[in-house]
Order: sequence, then C-alpha cells, then structure tokens
Amino acid sequence: MKTLFLNPPSYEGFDGGAGSRYQAKREIKSFWYPTWLAQPAAMIEGSKLIDAPADDIPFETAIGMCKGFDLCILHTSTPSFDNDVKVAERLKKDYPNMRIGFVGAHVAVLPEESLNASAAIDFVAREEFDYTIKEIADGRPFAQVDGISYRQNGSVVHNRDRALIDDMDALPHVVDVYKRDLKMENYYIGYLQHPYVSLYTGRGCPARCSFCLWPQTVGGHVYRTRSPKSVIAEMAKAKEFFPQAKEFFFDDDTFTADLPRAAEIARGLGKLGIVWSCNSRANVPFEYLKIFKENGLRLLLVGYESGNQKILNNIKKGIRLDIAREFTKNCRKLGIIIHGTFILGLPGESKETIAETSRFARELDVETIQVSLAAAYPGTELYRQAIQNGWFRKDDMVRNDGTQAATIEYPGSLSAKEINDAVAKMYSKFYFRPRPIGRMLANMAKDPAERNRRLREGKEFLTYLWGRKGADVAATKDKETAAA
Ligand code: SF4
Repeated sequence: MKTLFLNPPSYEGFDGGAGSRYQAKREIKSFWYPTWLAQPAAMIEGSKLIDAPADDIPFETAIGMCKGFDLCILHTSTPSFDNDVKVAERLKKDYPNMRIGFVGAHVAVLPEESLNASAAIDFVAREEFDYTIKEIADGRPFAQVDGISYRQNGSVVHNRDRALIDDMDALPHVVDVYKRDLKMENYYIGYLQHPYVSLYTGRGCPARCSFCLWPQTVGGHVYRTRSPKSVIAEMAKAKEFFPQAKEFFFDDDTFTADLPRAAEIARGLGKLGIVWSCNSRANVPFEYLKIFKENGLRLLLVGYESGNQKILNNIKKGIRLDIAREFTKNCRKLGIIIHGTFILGLPGESKETIAETSRFARELDVETIQVSLAAAYPGTELYRQAIQNGWFRKDDMVRNDGTQAATIEYPGSLSAKEINDAVAKMYSKFYFRPRPIGRMLANMAKDPAERNRRLREGKEFLTYLWGRKGADVAATKDKETAAA
C-alpha cells in the first residue's frame, strides 16, 4: 500500500510530534525530529513522511498533500488527540478508501477509547509499531497483525500484543528518511546548536520514574540497543548527508544507561570528528564524562526534576541530590554544558519545595533550564496515583494556544494556579541573574548566527512570560466575574 506517515497539523508551534516527550508549545520555537514515524517509514519502500507542525503546513494544505495514499499513519498524543481525530475525520471524508491508523503512547494505553472516539480511525497500533505498520502496508489482513486493535462487526477486537524488538540492528537507518522527506533547518531546540539532527541508538530505560511516559508505555524498562558498530556507521552516513549539522543528539531515554557501550560509541564519534549531545541521568562518574568530553560531547540533557530529596524518592527517580551536585561540578570542570530539566507539581510538592527546587537550579547554575508542569499521562504510575488520590483535574493538558497547563493539584495544600504561576517565577529567578545573562551575551558575541537566533528566542521567551501573566490576570478576572 502507498503509505503516508503524518505528524498532523496542530496548534501553531505545537511540538507534539513523534519525537517529543512532552507535548506542548514550548516557551521558544522548538521541534524534535519525528523519529518514531521515520523508523517505520524507513522500512516501507515508497512511503512518505510529512511533519506538518515543523514545516508549518496549514490544515487544508496538509489534507491536500495526503491525496493518493492508501494508508495514512497519524502519530497522536494525549494533549493533541482531539485535534488529530479532526484531521482523521477530514481525511476519511475526502479519501473514503484511505485506511487510517493511529500510533503513539496514548492509543497504546487507551486503544478501545481511542477507536470509539471516531469511526474514521480504522485501527490503532499498540506497543512498538514499526513492524506492525510494515505488515499492514504489505497488505497483511488485520486479523493476522500482532499489536493492533480494530473494529469488526461493530465491536473492538484486540489482537495479541506485539513483542518488543530484540534485534535493534535490524532496523534501517532513519537518516535516509530525514534526508528524503524533512527539512533539517526547520528543527530547533533551544539548547542545541542549529541545525541539529537527533536520532535513537536504543529504546527503553531501566529507571522507573513514576511520571515518565515512554518506558511505561512503548519502550519498556530494558535498554535495548544497537551495536556501537551500527551506530557509528549511521553517524558516518549522517555526517555525509548533513554536512551543515552543527550537532548530533542521541535521544535515547538515557544514553548513559550502558556506560561501557556509550564510551565505545563516543570513541567512534571522536574518530569521525562529530559534535554530539545526549540525554543523561545526573549520576555519570567522572571517568566516563572525561571519555565523552574528549570524544566530542558538547551537552547533556539532564532530568534533575526537583531540589527536594523526598519528592525525588516519591517519583522513584533513583538519584540523590548530593550525587547530582557532584556530577554537575564534574561536568563544569570538564566543560560539558548542561540543559537541566525540572518539574513542578510532583507528588509531595508544596510552596516550600517549589522554592527549594528554584534555589537548587540556581545553585547548580547549569547553562539553561526547562521548567515543566507535572503531567499525568494515561499509562503512567503518576496517572494512577492522581486518579486514586483525587489530584487530577481532568482539564486539558494544553491551553487553547497549545502551551502547557497544570492538570494536577493537591487539594488543601497546593492549587493548580499556584503550580502554574511558579513556572514563570522559576524561569524569571533563574534567567534574570547576571551570570546567565553574561553567558548568553558571550555566546552571542562569538557567533552572529547565534546572535540572531538568541534575539528571536529572547523575544519569544519574554512574550511567553508576559503571556502567562496576561492569562493569569484573565483567569483571575473570570473567577471574580463567576463569583460575582
Ligand atoms: S531516567 Fe529519564 S527516561 Fe528514564 S524513566 Fe526516568 S525520566 Fe524516564
């Protein structure tokens, strides 16, 4: 079947695609590569991948571009699901013979509810869907395809689960699809140099953080990896395909989960002269950091989450604050840049712990930070806890403009509004200090391209901060009007 992989059009600037762990419009323009769609696309000859948000393709144009395909696979997420259903319904109306399938963690956890949401969805693929989609594209009847749910005679049928992929080296290279279908200049991440390329060298994470979506839904808790030899071969190809790339990012949940393997890959990258970055936990020993740095590592994306040990224990982070401090010092010593991510509103949060986290971020003084609101995605332990304890507000995870919104609160101790407000405050307290401002000015002075980009991002960031204040004022006014 002629197969299309579609990251559907959504809110303007919505980074909810098949590469994004946290689906919301970010404070600054931000798009991850749709790697989860690119992987099966690489397995199906003659397929096409359209990334509508990154390419800024409006709804009507995107629908027109889908003409002529027999099978369309849409990547969805909890915040974008309703919108994605609208896209599917329009596709079905315009192209009644097109088969439409949904993939992603949301449908993996809620297959029946997802199918019941619209007759336009012919099937949903649960678990890892690469081979599932390949078999459907090859024309295999639904009844013989593991890992899908579909309708038959008015009721929903769930085929047996799809086994997790063992042989990761058997998967073809995603960079072939990137080169064929994507425009790399459209992909921005604030803390990565532009243009960048991101991909996976393995799936799954051995850690069990209660809020984290992918390992609890599609990836699992075993880190399944490609061999260093295969990774280095793809990176050599990527370097040749994208000579303009300033940086390559390994988006594995935790690239540092297997340190000897990571070191072997690093040595290969060093020989290729590649600048690279990756996700890491805040516990990598100095000797490995040194090997990474000597072989091209520029930046680590580190999930610190909270500055309060009790909260870290509550979410099963498996990290001690003293180890995180030591790790951060070692990175600074070696010249490794850190983008630190924090979450406000996790179980145990109070005004005091929010202040602690904000202080912790300033004490670590990493290069850049990201502050997210705790999001209880279906399929996670945090979702179950939120339901059981009455923390869940069942509001949308994103506002009408696609920015993140608090869906968790702690009745009697911390309201959703207090958690929401704390995000902008934490950003302001971190960034409006002489050191981060000095760092930014120094980087801008070094590189004119960097200067233009940072000026644009600075403007977007201030608009975001001001927008949040405006939204909060409007919400307060609405409440007052309602109360009156
Ligand atoms: S270490 Fe990171 S990727 Fe792994 S479960 Fe925790 S948050 Fe998720």
